[in-house]
Amino acid sequence: MQTLSIEQETNPWEAQAARFDFAAKKLNLDQGIWKVLRYPSREIIVHIPVTMDDGSIEVFTGYRVQHSIARGPAKGGIRYSPDVSLDEVRALASWMTWKCAVVNIPFGGAKGGVICNPKKMSQGELERVTRRYTAELIEFIGPEKDVPAPDMNTNEQTMAWIMDTYSMHMRQTVTSVVTGKPVNIGGSRGRTEATGRGVSVVCDEALKHLGIAVDGCRVIIQGFGNVGSNSAKLLQRKGYTIIGIAEWDGGLYNAKGIDIPALIEHRKNAGTINGFREAEAIDSAELLTRECEILIPAATENVITSRNADKIRCRILCEGANGPTTTVADEILGDKRVFIIPDILANAGGVTTSYFEWVQDRMGYFWTEAEVNQRLDSIMSESFRDVIAYAENHRVNNRIAAYMLAIDRVAYTTKQRGIYA
Ligand code: GLU
Repeated sequence: MQTLSIEQETNPWEAQAARFDFAAKKLNLDQGIWKVLRYPSREIIVHIPVTMDDGSIEVFTGYRVQHSIARGPAKGGIRYSPDVSLDEVRALASWMTWKCAVVNIPFGGAKGGVICNPKKMSQGELERVTRRYTAELIEFIGPEKDVPAPDMNTNEQTMAWIMDTYSMHMRQTVTSVVTGKPVNIGGSRGRTEATGRGVSVVCDEALKHLGIAVDGCRVIIQGFGNVGSNSAKLLQRKGYTIIGIAEWDGGLYNAKGIDIPALIEHRKNAGTINGFREAEAIDSAELLTRECEILIPAATENVITSRNADKIRCRILCEGANGPTTTVADEILGDKRVFIIPDILANAGGVTTSYFEWVQDRMGYFWTEAEVNQRLDSIMSESFRDVIAYAENHRVNNRIAAYMLAIDRVAYTTKQRGIYA
C-alpha cells in the first residue's frame, strides 16, 4: 500500500487525479486527451467586498472552476464553507464532469465555493455575498455556459438571489441560469429531495443485485442536511431501518429504528438532532463503525480514511457526499469486500433533476412531481446497471468502472469534436 501523509491522503484533488489516472490507464486513453481531461479548463478566483451588518467591509475569496464543457454547459453547485479551497473546488468540478457523464446527461462539470462561515452570517450578509459573487462571475455563467446549483450551505434562497442578480444584469428574467430554485420561480418539483431519492434508488438496486432483503436492512447515515435527511426519509418509507444518524455535533442510535419525520421535526425546533428522546446519544465517529447493511456518508469529503476504514462494518457503502472515501481507504474496504456505490453514481440524482429543471425552464413548461420522479428513478436504475455491468465486464471495482464509463464518454465526445489546439 502507498504510504501517504494524512494531508496527502485527504487532498481531494489528489484523490480525484489518482482515480482518473488509474481509470485512464485501464482505458488506454490517448495521451493528448488524457492531458486535456486531467485538468480543469478554466479557474476563476474572485475577491469580493461585502458590507457587513455592522457597516464594516469584509473581503471574501470565491472560486468557480469549470472542468469541462465537452458534453454541454458546465454544471455544478456552489458551496459556502470556511474549509473551501481551490484544490477542493477543482476536484469537485472534475467529479461533476464524471457524474454528468455517468448518468449520461448533456452537461460538463463545474463547481464554485466561497470561503466564509455561513453559520455566523446573517441573511442580509449572505445575500450580499451571493449577489457580489454572481456579479463577478457574470460573463462566465449562463444557461448555455455554466449553470450553478446548491451545494453545502447553499439552498433555494441562494439560487433565487443568483437568478435575480444575473437577470438584473441581463435586463430580463433568465430562470435557466441556475437550478435548485424555488418552484414558483422556475424550480423543478422534486429537486429538493432528488439527491436523497437517487440514493434510495441505488440502494434498492444494490440490495437486488446482492440478494439482500429490504426488510431488516439496517442503515446508518452520516449527515442530516439535504442529502442525509431526504435519504433517511425516503429509505424509511421504503421499509429500511434507519438505526443511526451521525451529525457533526453528535450522533443518535436506535437498533429498532429512528422515526425520521419525528427527528426532522425535532431538529426544526431544537436546531440540532441532539436531545432527541427516542434514540440513544452516541459519538458520531463511533457510530460509523457500528454494524449495518448500508452506511451512507452524506456530509463531506474524507470521512473514511486510513484511520477508520478497517473498523467499518457495513456490507454496502453508498456515497451520498462527494469524495467521502480516500484512495487508501478504498483499498482497505476492497479487501473487506465492501460493496461501494461510488459518489459519482450514488449522488447523481441531484444533478439529474437539475437537468430536468433546466429543460423545463427552457421549454417554459413544467412537469408534475410524479413525472420528474419517474424519469429520475429510471435514469438512476439504468446508470446503476451500466456501472455494475461495466465493472463485471472489465473486472474492476465499481468506482473505477464509473470513472472508466464516464471518461470514455467524455473522451469520445472530445475526439468527435476535435481538439482546438
Ligand atoms: N451540488 C450537487 C452535486 O454535487 C448538485 C449539482 C447540480 O445540481 O448542478 O451533485
